[in-house]
Amino acid sequence: MKVKLRNPDREVELAGGRKIHDVLAELGINPDTVLVIRERELLTREDRVGDADVIEIRPVISGGARVENRMKCRRCKAPAVVEIRRHNAAFCADCFVRHVREQVKRAIASYDMFEPSDRILVAVSGGKDSLALWDVLLELGYQADGLYLGLGIGAYSDRSHQVARSFAAERNAQLVEVDLARDYGFDVPTAGKKGSRSTCAVCGLSKRYVFNRAARDGGYDVIATGHNLDDEAATLLGNTLRWQTDYIARQSPVLPAEEGFARKVKPLYRLSELETAAFAFLRGIDYVVEECPLVGGNTQLRYKDAMNQLESTSPGTKAQFFLGYLDRAAPLFATQDDVELVGCERCGQPTTGRFCAFCRAQAQILGERLEEPRGGDDPRATTDELSNEVMPVEIYGGANR
Ligand code: AMP
Ligand code: ZN
Repeated sequence: MKVKLRNPDREVELAGGRKIHDVLAELGINPDTVLVIRERELLTREDRVGDADVIEIRPVISGGARVENRMKCRRCKAPAVVEIRRHNAAFCADCFVRHVREQVKRAIASYDMFEPSDRILVAVSGGKDSLALWDVLLELGYQADGLYLGLGIGAYSDRSHQVARSFAAERNAQLVEVDLARDYGFDVPTAGKKGSRSTCAVCGLSKRYVFNRAARDGGYDVIATGHNLDDEAATLLGNTLRWQTDYIARQSPVLPAEEGFARKVKPLYRLSELETAAFAFLRGIDYVVEECPLVGGNTQLRYKDAMNQLESTSPGTKAQFFLGYLDRAAPLFATQDDVELVGCERCGQPTTGRFCAFCRAQAQILGERLEEPRGGDDPRATTDELSNEVMPVEIYGGANR
């Protein structure tokens, strides 16, 4: 049946075959504050309405119908379960799930992330974002396998692994598994102690390296990560505070494939952390709620806090900052650097020097020496070997074009 609401005027379609009382309850309207009108007849809360009826709900209290505390779904007017302040909207469970899928579809389409014929490798940490992403892609019918990287962070990693495995098993999906200790000889806690990089830095370096390698070894067209709007806004804030223009230029939801690098995409960039968490919850996804125990106080978290404070007084700040960057500022940062990438002499992955940053870090952690430079005393090789600096081009490939 059709329901006409007033102040502001709007119409919604609702199921008939029930009492006015139930219709008002669904809309969150207090029956004492409205007249319910069918043609020229007034109805009481005990009257029944049919599917073909058209009713008007007219507020009687000046100032409009008083809505009980319950918010209503923007799409179907059923009681809402998730509120998204930056959109000034709320959704019921079904419409929210649909909203999330729409946002992902929009992200995929705006950046031509992939086609149904592409093989996608989704990097899944066991957290809400990457599992939500895998769920959405599978539901949308994409060919998406998961990739889990064991970082060796005690109980936290064990639980993440188990969550990723059960998710895959329940959906009959493929999970590629790589283990840092088994396959590369070190785990993240050891790396943090032995190497000269911070724990988070070596963990990030290892993830990017393994994701790229697994995608290429497995013949995947694209690697997808669960980075959300909060992640991207916090990263952009950090890059901007330090004016790291090389990194800013690469903060695109898509990095195209090129020499030795698989295409990388972030289909959740339009969704906040709250949205991905609510989605995972409503979809019944079991995910790891705990944070990584090693992450405490890292700068990324401080930037997230700062963004959240701004967001709490001005909803929409994060979205304006990051989506505004993509629309209006990203082109200003696009650069074309002509650094030449060559294959790492040890592993073949692209690098600017002789050995890639990952192989240098690994050798340092394991106390190994990388081979002597071929030319004997190529000065560049020595500096590369010792340097801790990782050039953005080596991590992300060429600039955002
Ligand atoms: P993080 O770097 O922890 O913020 O995670 C960013 C994204 O990297 C996640 O959304 C996942 O897609 C991916 N990721 C993080 N940790 C792992 C892991 N252990 N295995 C596979 N993918 C991961
Ligand atoms: Zn290498």
